[in-house]
Amino acid sequence: MTPQLIDAHAHVNFAAFDADREAVIERALEAGYWHINVGTQKDTSQSAVNLANTYDEGVYAVIGLHPIHTSASYHDQAELGGEGPGFKSRGEVFDYEFYRELAQSQKVVGIGECGLDYFRPGEADRAAQQTAFKEQIRLASELGKPLMLHLRPGAGGPAYEEAASILKSESKVAGNAHFFAGTSEEARLFLDLGFTISFTGVITFTTDYDDLVKYVPLDRILVETDCPYVAPKPWRGKRNEPVYVAAVASRVAELKGMSVEQVATATMANTRRLFNI
Ligand SMILES: [Zn+2]
Repeated sequence: MTPQLIDAHAHVNFAAFDADREAVIERALEAGYWHINVGTQKDTSQSAVNLANTYDEGVYAVIGLHPIHTSASYHDQAELGGEGPGFKSRGEVFDYEFYRELAQSQKVVGIGECGLDYFRPGEADRAAQQTAFKEQIRLASELGKPLMLHLRPGAGGPAYEEAASILKSESKVAGNAHFFAGTSEEARLFLDLGFTISFTGVITFTTDYDDLVKYVPLDRILVETDCPYVAPKPWRGKRNEPVYVAAVASRVAELKGMSVEQVATATMANTRRLFNI
């Protein structure tokens, strides 16, 4: 079956979907929407793979260690934008062999979400994040799989510039910069490295990224939900899920003055090309 849209970054593997996970996935597949569930540490990476293996097609996995999970901490709703559940980090050191083994599953299409989250780290966190990021770049390069990047600048430093320079010197593969919220100049750093850029439901309820969406060429854009977080209008504040990715595609189309079909076809092709789906 040819999908209508692909949600390039979802977390249906998270606990927020424990009660009705199968129904959520069925809704997406029936609409003709595929999705990629992304792991953030060992357990959620394993569950993303298990979930992908449950379906013949349409559900895929990206596995890795999120920068926030490289140190023990708690992230509440307010930090996550006041929407969705909070979560706890235990502090995980990237286990190269564990992830290498897990990546042998055919449904694993990339490594991540990895990168740098400097929203509120101290110096120690920063070093741990960089180490985990470099290890995941090494694994992705060894396996020839693309990276799923999580980048968030803040008081801790310029995450975009640092990540781009690490990638430039260490990565043999490209990937996708997820939930991109930087400037056009910062987007250019990743476009120049051959990366795609994905947008979430945030673009449906703020005009802050209008210029950025217009700036990124259509053949380098992916659409995503990042569910259960940041549901697009008109579901804002509710639990997000893969079928809502259509609202993100509609908003990209509106901003670029294109048809929804054009955006759907292009983002789908971009996602399949990058993740070899
Ligand atoms: Zn995510």
